[in-house]
Amino acid sequence: MAHIISFVNQKGGVGKTTSAVNIAAALGDLGKRVLLVDTDPQGNATSGVGISKKNITRSMYDVIIERSSAADAVVRTKFKNLSVLPSHISLAGAELELVDAEKRESRLKKALDSIKSDYDYIIIDCPPSLGLLSINALAASTGVIIPMQCEYYALEGLTQLMLTIKLVKKHYNSNLEIVGIMITMYNGRLNLSLQVMDELKKYYADKLFKTAIVRNVKLSEAPSFGEPILYYDKYSKGCTAYKEIADELLERLS
Ligand code: ADP
Ligand code: MG
Repeated sequence: MAHIISFVNQKGGVGKTTSAVNIAAALGDLGKRVLLVDTDPQGNATSGVGISKKNITRSMYDVIIERSSAADAVVRTKFKNLSVLPSHISLAGAELELVDAEKRESRLKKALDSIKSDYDYIIIDCPPSLGLLSINALAASTGVIIPMQCEYYALEGLTQLMLTIKLVKKHYNSNLEIVGIMITMYNGRLNLSLQVMDELKKYYADKLFKTAIVRNVKLSEAPSFGEPILYYDKYSKGCTAYKEIADELLERLS
């Protein structure tokens, strides 16, 4: 049975896409069969694994409006064991189009049910909101990872997010578990980072990943080359961190 893991946080720029792409690539490198699912209309995860949006004929949009099967939209990347269900900007309109649709929150689940036996891990990158697309991701998932930055308002956002997860669990997906909270863009020299980390340890000790992802310029360069960090610079600190967190994830799920 595939583990289906959503990377969710309603805030933008916290490292969801960077984490989804690099953990997906790291798991593929470890011999797992991985599908990266891009549910953000911005399509950063799609381009981050080298798939040009211009060449996409079927995307997440076609899947969610049930014009295409998931299998027909999936494309192989050039990276080891890594396929992607690409996104397209048209997905931005899906939320409105589905306003009156029945079971609109479980469209992605239904689509993935037909292909999940082909994979060990399905990694879902979510948009920066708790709208219909993120709800679809949560309803389809077995687990959630919350990437967050150590900043002042991070904890406030976390309370709201936990509430949403609880509601999805109650109404749409009783199997949903929080796999962990991961710290991104960490800078241990900042007092604020240390304070937020302490707070997190106080309230979410069992959920916090031991590995924190450091701020590393190579991680921000890699997407413009359409490569996960493992292929862009495997000796970088960013790569080491994502390999470590992938190991920790495997351990948590075993
Ligand atoms: P989200 O998907 O939550 O919006 P992204 O993963 O796109 O966030 O990250 C936001 C920006 O920060 C991007 O430009 C990305 O390249 C950069 N970034 C993410 N993680 C790191 C990191 N550990 N070090 C340096 N830059 C990072
Ligand atoms: Mg993103």
